[in-house]
Amino acid sequence: MLSVKNLKVAYGGIQAVKGIDLEVSKGELVTLIGSNGAGKTTTMKALTGSLPLQSGEIEFMGQSITGRSAWDLVAQGLAMVPEGRGVFTRMTILENLQMGAYVVTGNQAKAQVADDVDKAFATFPRLKERTNQLAGTLSGGEQQMLAMARALMSRPKMLLLDEPSMGLSPLMVEKIFDVVREVRSQGVTVLLVEQNAKLALQIADRAYVMESGLITMSGQAKDLLDDPRVRAAYLGE
Ligand code: ATP
Repeated sequence: MLSVKNLKVAYGGIQAVKGIDLEVSKGELVTLIGSNGAGKTTTMKALTGSLPLQSGEIEFMGQSITGRSAWDLVAQGLAMVPEGRGVFTRMTILENLQMGAYVVTGNQAKAQVADDVDKAFATFPRLKERTNQLAGTLSGGEQQMLAMARALMSRPKMLLLDEPSMGLSPLMVEKIFDVVREVRSQGVTVLLVEQNAKLALQIADRAYVMESGLITMSGQAKDLLDDPRVRAAYLGE
């Protein structure tokens, strides 16, 4: 579903991503783990058109999406929940969800969006209680829920999640990861960037480890969970 070849990204003279290959198949949950500054967020931003590539090729569902805008990608079925959530702080929860459905058009659009808002509220009852609250006044965990719910409003084929656990309490992290599992079980392909390697490897099918701008290990998530190098470097053992 997603194929990345020889991706390189630089900030001026700083080479943040030094030529990486990634593959995600339909229906998979793949995680990209690595420590601070490894280049994970830069990779995600490059995939979604918010950073220019130095070189490389990105294909989504068999078509090149290199250089396409995030707007375009959402319309094609590739949605992203960015690091830091990126909710519209001065809009209500309901308005944020409606914004997420901007690609939904046609005469059934109104009914579909209303239906999907109901589904979002069923998944995240906490958001329902706060329908008309401004998103900027939500807690970090609530904003993460809203960012995920908003991304799902476009009915994506694939979801890119950048560090959804960041800054959240353990209980909230569990809730968010439960939703990631659920989203995947509904047939959405997921690429999850995480610093919480243990949790990410526990829910993923496959994983890539990124260090200093390069992929240094990859394989089945359960194998990496048992790998002594991963255990020492990322699981604190
Ligand atoms: P973290 O888990 O801490 O978010 P990360 O793996 O997502 O880390 P990136 O944010 O992709 O890492 O950063 C990769 C490298 O690129 C780092 O060395 C970082 O300092 C650098 N970098 C990131 N953004 C910029 C920028 N706007 N200008 C210059 N350098 C940057």
